[in-house]
Amino acid sequence: MSELVLDNVTKVFDDGGEDIVAVDGVSVDIDDGEFLVLVGPSGCGKSTTLRMIAGLETVSSGEIRLDGQVINGRPPRERDIAMVFQSYALYPHMTVRQNMSFGLEESTEKSDDEIESLVTETGEMLGISPLLDRKPGELSGGQQQRVALGRAIVRDPKVFLMDEPLSNLDAKLRSQMRTELQRLQEDLDVTTVYVTHDQTEAMTMGDRIAILNDGVLQQVATPLEAYHQPANLFVAGFIGEPSMNFFETELRGDSLVADEFEYPLSQGTLDAVGDSTRVTLGVRPEDVELLDSGSASGDHDFETLVDVVEPMGNENNVYLSFASGGVTEGTSVGDQTQSGNVTDFVATITGMRSMEGGQSVVARFPESAIHLFDTESGRTLK
Ligand code: ATP
Repeated sequence: MSELVLDNVTKVFDDGGEDIVAVDGVSVDIDDGEFLVLVGPSGCGKSTTLRMIAGLETVSSGEIRLDGQVINGRPPRERDIAMVFQSYALYPHMTVRQNMSFGLEESTEKSDDEIESLVTETGEMLGISPLLDRKPGELSGGQQQRVALGRAIVRDPKVFLMDEPLSNLDAKLRSQMRTELQRLQEDLDVTTVYVTHDQTEAMTMGDRIAILNDGVLQQVATPLEAYHQPANLFVAGFIGEPSMNFFETELRGDSLVADEFEYPLSQGTLDAVGDSTRVTLGVRPEDVELLDSGSASGDHDFETLVDVVEPMGNENNVYLSFASGGVTEGTSVGDQTQSGNVTDFVATITGMRSMEGGQSVVARFPESAIHLFDTESGRTLK
């Protein structure tokens, strides 16, 4: 069992007399063998959290427990935790083999032969056997990344910590390594905390994701839960690509009134809104339905104009403006601002349906698909 618990963990840095709260009361239980992705925008406290778990940073208050033991005061070497850094942190003068085995004699009871066969085995697992006698300078970025992983694996730790390990790789290699890393983690079954600012990585890799903003944990959930039931406005906007469309509205009678449209609500949705009067309406690009112009048939259908179409392969991102906004003409090249219009929202459509700038279409925001948030607090209402 390797259960890692963060209990109300806080980190305050003293920046020349000024307190900077980098991590603010974070609590999360990471199960044995779980792959938890810690995600959030730059500066939200991800690395600091990871460094506290590793013992590279002290904890200002709260507890970090590994298998029920408080490890706050333990030096990094005595934590049974291995970390993979973004920069790989390999020793340039040592061979791959030496990099992987460095320090193992002291930190384990293993004999030289055992270490040797462990390194060979891990090299095979990672497909780097032919590279074991090279030095890091003679390896590609992807190969160095595997060596860094190998060095963590041979330690057979209770926990892996990974700080943006794929961010120095090009897009294709990154997506390949994503799958490989996941498979490896599943096979090894080691509790893993993986830091990234990339929500695609978070969505595809984690058993669960923990979303941080300004040092505060916003939600811990499976990727699908965070996507379909975001805890608040921040999570809703952070998870999903392109981002959820948001419209600030005011509740008047039984309708949400925005600058560009009015959106009547059913009784069930009104009940969910409760006492909130300033309400942010959110709709995911893939939930917007686009229909032929002139076919508006309900209160949730709006006449719009296509501003820009961005082809993405088997789907298109269509940037749209409400027709009432005085749109003139559009363009089908990938620059939203080119037509001089301000795009109001984005719809993602699949298939070969042709759509071009300047075209009139009806956009439908189905009530079953909309998300509602209290504008002031960001709290999810629906
Ligand atoms: P990024 O994705 O850019 O790496 P992050 O989410 O990992 O960001 P942290 O590096 O954990 O964020 O930083 C969190 C906050 O703490 C930031 O405001 C940062 O400026 C601050 N911070 C980090 N280290 C120190 C330090 N040693 N002294 C003072 N402030 C620090």
